[in-house]
Amino acid sequence: MPDTEPPLVAPPPSGVDWPDLTSRLAALVGTEHVLTDPQSLDRYSADALMPQLAYHAESAFEPLADVVVRPADTGEVSAVVALAQQQAIPLVPYGGGTGVMGAVLPLRGGILLDLSRLNRLLSVSPESLTAEVQGGMILEDFYASLEPYGLMPGHDPYSVPIATVAGAISTNGVGYRAAAFGPMGDQVVGLEAVLPDGRIIETRAVPKLSSGPNLKHLFIGSEGVFGVITRATINVFRIPEASAYATYEFDDFAAGFAAVRAMTALGIRPTLLDLTEDYAGILLYLLFEGFREGVDAGISRTAQVCQAAGGRNAGPEPTQEYWRRRHDSALNYRQNALGRPRQERWARGWGRTIDYLHMSLPAGRVMEYRQRADELLAARDIAVVEYCIWSRPEFFSMLVAPADERQRNRRAWDDPAVRGNLAAGVDEVLELAQDMGGIMEYCHGVGVKLNHLLPREQGASRQALLELKQLLDPAGIMNPGKLAL
Ligand SMILES: Cc1cc2nc3c(=O)[nH]c(=O)nc-3n(C[C@H](O)[C@H](O)[C@H](O)COP(=O)(O)OP(=O)(O)OC[C@H]3O[C@@H](n4cnc5c(N)ncnc54)[C@H](O)[C@@H]3O)c2cc1C
Repeated sequence: MPDTEPPLVAPPPSGVDWPDLTSRLAALVGTEHVLTDPQSLDRYSADALMPQLAYHAESAFEPLADVVVRPADTGEVSAVVALAQQQAIPLVPYGGGTGVMGAVLPLRGGILLDLSRLNRLLSVSPESLTAEVQGGMILEDFYASLEPYGLMPGHDPYSVPIATVAGAISTNGVGYRAAAFGPMGDQVVGLEAVLPDGRIIETRAVPKLSSGPNLKHLFIGSEGVFGVITRATINVFRIPEASAYATYEFDDFAAGFAAVRAMTALGIRPTLLDLTEDYAGILLYLLFEGFREGVDAGISRTAQVCQAAGGRNAGPEPTQEYWRRRHDSALNYRQNALGRPRQERWARGWGRTIDYLHMSLPAGRVMEYRQRADELLAARDIAVVEYCIWSRPEFFSMLVAPADERQRNRRAWDDPAVRGNLAAGVDEVLELAQDMGGIMEYCHGVGVKLNHLLPREQGASRQALLELKQLLDPAGIMNPGKLAL
């Protein structure tokens, strides 16, 4: 591992003849798909991360892209990437721009590659239960285009209305149906990707290889640092013939967690599993989907397990309501923030001085982790306003905020002492997860927000990644600075 990490933000490439490059890009994708106006450069040069939450990376919000390029297909992506590699121009793949970690910030300027024109469903195989889709398709459109076949995708995050298929793959996102179908990466059967020198590669669309490593894993959760995903073959699922909601209420989180572990150990697989403790109490939200007998069996055995753990049946209604509202935050984001100037987007978030953390640990250590994290945070006067297990017992989330409610506003955020304290507390609990054999983030990726903690999580394996990056991307153009590469 290098002794000192390179700076996150570096000057844009020097000596680039931008007018010449812009006209060469226009020749590749068409003049109307090369944007250099200040409004476009502004709006594309950020995602949903607000600077006040990127405690260690505020400078990351300063650089703007030099040009936005909107290719139409894999061939055009390949040509643009090859040109960028030749001239050593940084290039950042851009899906829906809804990431919450700053993974699309153009830390060294250069090209923002907007993949929204790669938005077609290419084929569906009800026999193989797979669909081939272009990377820039919005998840909501993916759902709609599968419906006539009686099929649906398995990835159902809050951000279905706004995020793209390849963005979800590149962050290995988690959604509401992950208890049954796993995170997005688990649902990827095969990929087509453009490597950092413009070469196009394709992995075989079968669920398992025993003929060497499956290169699709180079791109899953990689935030675009190893190439651009242009097409993916994804597992799809029958729209379920039956579904049933259940909600259980617990007096303490440990009892609810014991129920979740017992369900998992027995092999009970709901599609939705969410154990939340907040101001409203401790509720386990469950949805079972699939064939009728399986759903009935899941519901009745779960009742036994939850009651044995001290849970009370709160009926289906709380989960029905939860399910109905699951995309509301993204619909709100689409209506009030998406595509707006950065300052306007950032201004929206100033009232919410909270941070959402998503750690993963071996299930057997989660309750010990909670206790130790509570102690660390309490020592800093930081409150946990929500705890959550989402999808599997290993996925543990906390919503944290200053304990003093008067500090949960914009004026408090302008006070470096308040923010510095929250930043330090957040780092302490993320490092604790790493030190207890877990990881600091299971849902949203690293972006610029968690870059500073990634090398300590990767340990000696980081050197292998650096070497791989150097080999595949000698000019270091692909989303430079991300994943601490
Ligand atoms: C209101 C709201 C709710 C959210 N809820 C959830 C949730 O429930 N679960 C969840 O996991 N996330 C959630 N997110 C975060 C976000 O939606 C996800 O991280 C999503 O997967 C990002 O998709 P995107 O298309 O917007 O990617 P972007 O933000 O555009 O990009 C994310 C990363 O992927 C890279 N990338 C994008 N396209 C490609 C490509 N074609 N090839 C290679 N790299 C690429 C980018 O360079 C970047 O590093 C939420 C966000 C918001 C605003």
